[in-house]
Amino acid sequence: SLPTIYVITPTYNRLTQIADLTRLKNTLQLVPKVVWIIVEDSLDKTDKIINFVFDSNLKIVHLVEKTLPTVKPSGTVGHKGVEQRNRALKWLKESNVANGAFYFADDDNSYDIRLFEEIRSVERIGVWPVGLVGGIKYEAPICKNNKVIDWFFVYNPRRYFPTDMASFALNVKLLHEFEDIYFERFTRGDLEGVFLKKFQIKMNELEPKANNCSKIYVWHTRTRKEIIKSGIDFDKEIMKQI
Ligand code: UDP
Ligand code: MN
Repeated sequence: SLPTIYVITPTYNRLTQIADLTRLKNTLQLVPKVVWIIVEDSLDKTDKIINFVFDSNLKIVHLVEKTLPTVKPSGTVGHKGVEQRNRALKWLKESNVANGAFYFADDDNSYDIRLFEEIRSVERIGVWPVGLVGGIKYEAPICKNNKVIDWFFVYNPRRYFPTDMASFALNVKLLHEFEDIYFERFTRGDLEGVFLKKFQIKMNELEPKANNCSKIYVWHTRTRKEIIKSGIDFDKEIMKQI
């Protein structure tokens, strides 16, 4: 049978949250055998996301994990979604999921549904290009004879693997093979590399996906911060959905 894909999405209360999650929901509805793990950056489940989950025709695991106030990124400094992704990893380990692949899908990225079939076949760690990231049009593994031999990137060359969260997926069996599989809060801009390093994998052992890393199936788009004038509330029912 088809392996399940566990899609892990950290999300927090911003004006575009439901709009972003709706785009992702509609994408995932086109993909078979998906479990969507939504982790709210919140102390408790919010009505907004409870209602969103209730309204969705998808298999969703709704979790919460609040970003610690002391480590909350200010402005663009610091990593986002760390505690939330770790909460999902904990869920995967505790649920004893034995088969399938998992992927970290931020709420505001853009996904081609073909990405998910690439993820499904990941045996250990699969990688592929990401559009609009790292200050360039795309970052990408450079492949030869179906092996990753190098990476195309500009941002922070000290990274262990110079790649974005959206560029890789892992087989869940790795969570049972290795200990301490979680994201570190302080990595000097190398959240992904420090995480991937834990699997003691060499570049040439990564599985190139998306037609030998020649296709872009995911873009690191970012929703613009919306500014609204407060106090304008025409309809309570509509207002609740924003
Ligand atoms: N996020 C979160 N808590 C925060 C900030 C971000 O859970 O305080 C989530 C957010 O919803 C997204 C991911 O972490 O899924 C990455 O954040 P964002 O998209 O803001 O970062 P960017 O893409 O701009 O680097
Ligand atoms: Mn984002």
